[in-house]
Amino acid sequence: MRLLNELDRKDSTDVGRELHRFAAELYPICRSITGDGIRRTLAMIQERIPLQISEVPSGTPVFDWTVPQEWNIRDAYIKDSSGKRIVDFRQCNLHVLNYSTPVRATMPLRELRPHLFTLPDYPDWIPYRTSYYEANWGFCMANNQMLALRDDDYEVCIESTLENGHLTYGECYLPGHSTDEVLISCHACHPSLANDNLSGVTVATALAEFLSKRDLRYSYRFLFIPGTIGAITWLARNQETVGRVRHGLVLTGIGDASAFHYKKSRRGNAEIDQAMTHVLQHANPSSQILEFSPYGYDERQYCSPGFNLPVGCLMRSIWGTFPEYHTSADNLDFIKPAQLAESLRTCAAVLDVLENNRRYRNLNPYCEPQLGKRDLYRSTGGKAIGVEISARLWVLSLCDGERSLLDVAQRSGLPFSAINDAAELLRENGLLSVAPEGATGRTCEATNNGRSLVRQSHS
Ligand SMILES: [Zn+2]
Repeated sequence: MRLLNELDRKDSTDVGRELHRFAAELYPICRSITGDGIRRTLAMIQERIPLQISEVPSGTPVFDWTVPQEWNIRDAYIKDSSGKRIVDFRQCNLHVLNYSTPVRATMPLRELRPHLFTLPDYPDWIPYRTSYYEANWGFCMANNQMLALRDDDYEVCIESTLENGHLTYGECYLPGHSTDEVLISCHACHPSLANDNLSGVTVATALAEFLSKRDLRYSYRFLFIPGTIGAITWLARNQETVGRVRHGLVLTGIGDASAFHYKKSRRGNAEIDQAMTHVLQHANPSSQILEFSPYGYDERQYCSPGFNLPVGCLMRSIWGTFPEYHTSADNLDFIKPAQLAESLRTCAAVLDVLENNRRYRNLNPYCEPQLGKRDLYRSTGGKAIGVEISARLWVLSLCDGERSLLDVAQRSGLPFSAINDAAELLRENGLLSVAPEGATGRTCEATNNGRSLVRQSHS
């Protein structure tokens, strides 16, 4: 099945606009790692794709961590002595230190100051700050606004609750012919931040919606989770079955104008690493491939040594390195419809490779088969052969039952689609057969507690 051909039938301008529209719907919600913000977000995703929502009680141990208390917020402000709201959560949810404990007090500026967070380098932007695992309260504001505060008594109010409740995450499972899975994960725990969270959420939702109508080789599992603690919680609850994950991608920061950055899995040579590298090299040559590092997004958890899943991370701007990161400038203007659409297309292109990447065997390996008599070669000799003929020759030369089509594409320098088309045509003409899967010992190296989770392919 050719996913990309089907996606390309849609108008990419419309696709981009729709992705951006969905981001705009989700943008105002005050999300956090727990609470009603992420619940409402998941409910809106559920209107588009089948989503199973899990609620995990506070206090549940998950590996070395514990599911935290649930945080919710109704209102927050700082009022000056005239009663005017000078900082207002209702205007921008970034104004509150995420996970702030409740507070209601009146205090002079000197006492308030240690609870104010600003960005002196970008004096008009509001920073995004959190305090999930240490009780604290605070407000985030523009540095220029803070500098303009006069000596006064300020009324501070944070109407939040932090109590035993649940951690909520959403899971969309799309069954394919094989029980082997492709895992697509994105965090959905940031408040009004567009690139860092909503770009991944909207593209993952659209990808799931697109795949849900298709006949698939692999089964697909989409996770919409709070960052770090959500991935840890999901892994703790699925430790027994996680070995089904053959390929995985974390999607984040894929709506801005930067070129793509793909961070490889910890394995460094997984099929997903190879597939993403190939797709980006051909379609987006300005992209950069990064080696794995144990910091970043939830690939840290999926790739932790006990699991070592083949999960990479697709980004445009790299987290923490662009000025808008974790500020009010990561807004709906920072993400662009065209870039969102291109990111969706890149994901579909990679899945297209994974869905079609097989090993074949040349059934006529003793000298070249005569392609001309099968009408598979140009009839008159010329100077150069085209991509189509070249792809057929490469496939016949390299398909020995060991190498995959992706290996052939990489070695030949030709796009995967040309190699795949050639393989299909040669197979139809009786010159190629599919090698049995598992013959080359594809395994998942995930182990934990000394117990192996090695699985052979089921397809
Ligand atoms: Zn973030």
